[in-house]
Amino acid sequence: MKTRFYKIAVLLILIISLSIYFLKGCSAEEYKQTAFFMDTRVDVAVYNISKKQAETVVQAIFDEMLRLENILSKHVSGSDVNRINEAAGRVPVTVEPETILVTSRALEIAELSSGAFDPTVGPLVDLWGWGTEKLKVPSAEEINAVLPLVNYKAVKIDKDNSTIFLAEPGMKLDLGGIAKGFIVDRGREIAQQFSVKALFVNAGGDIGIMGKKPSGEKWRVAVQSPRDPQKWAAILEIEEGCVATSGDYERFFEEGGEIYHHILDPEKGIPAGDLSSVTIVASESMLSDALSTAVFVLGKDKGMQLLESLKGIDGLVIDKQGEIHVSSGLGDHIEIPQDE
Ligand code: AMP
Ligand code: MG
Repeated sequence: MKTRFYKIAVLLILIISLSIYFLKGCSAEEYKQTAFFMDTRVDVAVYNISKKQAETVVQAIFDEMLRLENILSKHVSGSDVNRINEAAGRVPVTVEPETILVTSRALEIAELSSGAFDPTVGPLVDLWGWGTEKLKVPSAEEINAVLPLVNYKAVKIDKDNSTIFLAEPGMKLDLGGIAKGFIVDRGREIAQQFSVKALFVNAGGDIGIMGKKPSGEKWRVAVQSPRDPQKWAAILEIEEGCVATSGDYERFFEEGGEIYHHILDPEKGIPAGDLSSVTIVASESMLSDALSTAVFVLGKDKGMQLLESLKGIDGLVIDKQGEIHVSSGLGDHIEIPQDE
């Protein structure tokens, strides 16, 4: 009698455990994958859906990111940006709707930042050798020769005919300061189409967050200390939205004892400003990406002024001395570790 009772109990426990397992659909709390697009590591994590569903969503996101890279990267031969650059000063080029969208947004931020963000920095970026193995400090003459080609006002977008035209020969569009943000936005859109409830995307410091964390807590995004990769300069508490950081430590090289980074001042043609890093919080990743670059170039005073003037956008800047300046809207949403 006793053995029979035990047998039934064991069987019941087994049935209950299996039911729980299958009811959860073999779900993983977090499903995370990494890939590389636009020369950048992209991490995507989705939460509380079955592994099979998660695999499908993440694959759809990566497929779309690859498609966008093939349109928007100036390093991919035959991309829209590449064809626009090759036809500079000659003919308008027919492009995909996404190229019109991202370039239009880039020109808006250029206008908003009085040209501190300029998507026509291409000739300068190439002169310094960014994106190649041959990084070098150009001479003043070389810089002066390409500066007239950096002029966002000479980008002509014809939305009716879906064309983009660079008015001067030698001009080059470079969407490197905004395109990563756009692929993050697309990642969030795709996750929404698949009814994913929570998503975290990080494309080399351009972060997109959607939905609630499975634990119910707020998302915490750490901002790296510019001079010590092992330390956090600040921690942001985010409900939902996008966070992007531009820093002088992200891409740089040394020559003659000096450090040169990749964010260029479009007026002077040299690495920009008095800041080490800028972090922007916004509802759209394209915005946070482009604005982090723009504020970096504007520097502390003008950059903070711009941030305070924009509704729904906040941020923090870290100057070369390591001092942190926070925009008024961040209030309780930021934690600054004591030892910084
Ligand atoms: P981010 O890391 O988002 O700040 O973007 C830096 C990238 O944007 C560089 O690698 C260049 O491709 C491009 N870039 C550099 N300087 C500027 C600028 N002043 N305005 C717009 N894009 C820029
Ligand atoms: Mg940027």
